[in-house]
Amino acid sequence: MTTVAIHDMYVGETSEIVSFDGDNPEIKRLRDMGIREGKLIDLIYYDPVLSNKIVIGVDNTRIAFDANVAYNIKVRPIKSHYETFKVQALYDPLTQCFNRNATEHIIRDEYEKFINNKIPMSLLFADIDYFKRINDTYGHQVGDSVLKTVTDLLKQGLRRSDVLCRWGGEEFLILLRGTHIQDAAQIAERLREKVESHLFPLFPPFEQSGLVTISIGGAELLPRTQIAQLIEKADNALYTAKNNGRNKVVVC
Ligand code: GH3
Ligand code: MG
Ligand code: MG
Repeated sequence: MTTVAIHDMYVGETSEIVSFDGDNPEIKRLRDMGIREGKLIDLIYYDPVLSNKIVIGVDNTRIAFDANVAYNIKVRPIKSHYETFKVQALYDPLTQCFNRNATEHIIRDEYEKFINNKIPMSLLFADIDYFKRINDTYGHQVGDSVLKTVTDLLKQGLRRSDVLCRWGGEEFLILLRGTHIQDAAQIAERLREKVESHLFPLFPPFEQSGLVTISIGGAELLPRTQIAQLIEKADNALYTAKNNGRNKVVVC
């Protein structure tokens, strides 16, 4: 993270002091009060319109000083609440892939590109087969680790331009930008094989390896189709894959 001068902090933000230089009397006074590199400080007050004073909190003490020395104090902001929540609003905490909310935005963006520039787009729904059984037999923690491993395998099988989303539970939505359904079907098949051939370290206390499979349904965005219809088509294809015995790819 970049370093800023202390008066560039937001009020309420916490930062670490990275450097504190200079030798005027005010700097010396602050050093004597314990302000030095490595200290965590809170910016309590700074309003350049109303006052030339900065107030910070450090070691349970409030310290006021003249804003003229602000340039002598360089700090590294600790991630603000705003940034933390921004990340949480976009990513699923368990798998670190995009959450549904973020993906709905991305789909709308890609939909615009399709309408305006005829850039193709396909969607895949991938759902872990008999996942409930894994949970019920080996416990929720094992279920969670299977979810994470499946996520990693899917990521490995995708291109940088593809978007992987945890749509809910053990269901993933994969948005394939610039991809027609023939290519999407090949990608889906590659993903299915990747998961099928992975030896999962299942599962204490049973100390045995196990196999996990996924079913995938896919559809391509066609002219005069709404996003909801595209999602429904891919979802129906997934349903067919499940009914055909699971561990299958079905595309419209
Ligand atoms: P199918 O092959 O038809 O997809 O069957 P399934 O058992 O995979 O599907 P079902 O919808 O019956 O069960 C999904 C299970 O996923 C039920 C739910 O408790 C579990 N689940 C959802 N989210 C999580 C999670 O974050 N962690 C774990 N461990 N389990 C989850
Ligand atoms: Mg399932
Ligand atoms: Mg499901």
